[in-house]
Amino acid sequence: MFSDYHVHSSFSFDSEESPRAIVEKAIALGMKQICFTDHQDFNWPIEGESPYIDFPKYFEALNSLRNEYSSKINILKGVELGLTSDNFSLCHKLLDSYDFDFVIGSCHIVDQMDPYYAEFWEGKNDRDCFELYFKTLLDSLKSFIGRNTCTTPRTVNTLGHLDYIVRYSPNKDNNYSVADYIDVIDEILKMIIENNIKLEINTSNFSKGFDFPNPHTDIIRRYKELGGLYVTVGSDAHKAQFIGSGFDLVEKIVEKYKLKVFTI
Ligand SMILES: [Zn+2]
Ligand SMILES: [Zn+2]
Repeated sequence: MFSDYHVHSSFSFDSEESPRAIVEKAIALGMKQICFTDHQDFNWPIEGESPYIDFPKYFEALNSLRNEYSSKINILKGVELGLTSDNFSLCHKLLDSYDFDFVIGSCHIVDQMDPYYAEFWEGKNDRDCFELYFKTLLDSLKSFIGRNTCTTPRTVNTLGHLDYIVRYSPNKDNNYSVADYIDVIDEILKMIIENNIKLEINTSNFSKGFDFPNPHTDIIRRYKELGGLYVTVGSDAHKAQFIGSGFDLVEKIVEKYKLKVFTI
């Protein structure tokens, strides 16, 4: 069983799960490590939502669990950092301020909305939305990488759920073909490979009825063709019961494309 490197607890605005329940579940599954990656999205545009972590409390809670469970599992302190083209200096400042074990860089916002919400899709077609998402992700990565203001340049360790938007289309993946966006996807993949950022294989799709993870296996294959080797594996669980879910399917993908799973 791979260690889970993408997990949300009650330190995220959209989870109520206790960190202890997550640790217990990971131990029960035989994981060697569990990496907490709660949400931190600077400049979040949606009113009434606060995807911001109380970092002193977060580190205090995780350090305490880490000591308590040290003989059973290695608890890692990570973050899922929402990247936009205008929040890079806040992201850099955060990475300068705290010593995270692991950082996921993700794109959650396109056109000032989270495509998680049904109203995002009203009056739009999938193809335009998918294209805009990939372009937004590329712009955010360019800003984050190209304008690094950290005292000691820091980066994210992995690129989270590269085709996140597809999860939430009302038509699911019926209108999704990776080939339609391959130029911009290639640019994204080349950029992460050049900057030593791994590609996340995020399994949350499997429990939503899809037969591929995020990103689609066509993107994973392309990553390898372009010279990528390391992937990270995460469930994106917001409840303890989903920790490690779908990891057996990732094992097959990793074998098929001869990839290596990155762990700390
Ligand atoms: Zn995410
Ligand atoms: Zn997540």
